[in-house]
Amino acid sequence: MPATSTSSAAGSLAGRVIVVDPGHNGANGSHSSEINRQVDAGGFKKACNTTGTSAAGYAEHQFNWDVATRLAALLRSRGATVILTRPDNNGWGPCVDERGRTASTNGADAMVSIHADGSSASNHGFHIIHPAVVANHTDAIVEPSQRLAGLLRDELVASGLSPSNYIGRQGLNQRGDLGTLNLAGVPVVMLESGNMHNSGDLAMLRSAEGQDRIAESIVRAFEGYFA
Ligand code: ZN
Repeated sequence: MPATSTSSAAGSLAGRVIVVDPGHNGANGSHSSEINRQVDAGGFKKACNTTGTSAAGYAEHQFNWDVATRLAALLRSRGATVILTRPDNNGWGPCVDERGRTASTNGADAMVSIHADGSSASNHGFHIIHPAVVANHTDAIVEPSQRLAGLLRDELVASGLSPSNYIGRQGLNQRGDLGTLNLAGVPVVMLESGNMHNSGDLAMLRSAEGQDRIAESIVRAFEGYFA
């Protein structure tokens, strides 16, 4: 049976600890000095955090929070323990180093970071960023993260979403410059769920149905990963 037809069942993620990182935060924009502070991103320095993108009055941090909320509830209903990297959408930060280390310091089994992109209006589709080799940081997680990324790509495609037409290859993009990924210490992927500056993607991203499809795809990817 192909992995994409696996149905989510109660208890399918029992005993698993999963970190859900909703990218950015609602008050980052009013805390520029705090979020521009340089922090360790895996052997080099990078800004603590950024504001994220937005379109038509809908901010990326809100989208990330909306999907994370749905995802956390679904994962818990399957028996997983879920750790969110921020408690609400009203504060600033945490910085990327703290986001990544949330996974390793809590003994998590895996981590997903939720984002949406802001690119040219004709660009569309999702892409999944997975860690490149960053010596002494990601050596042990490159391979399992790539497997998790492939499973997530397949689940998103099965649920009707299109891979990016402007970045990466077949919906996957490997990067070594992201502190959240470099410091996670556990299998991790960052989902850029779509391009908020593309009208078709935006309609999907801000709809309850689209957000459910994304959250359910992530759950099925974890189920496949841990099966
Ligand atoms: Zn983002």
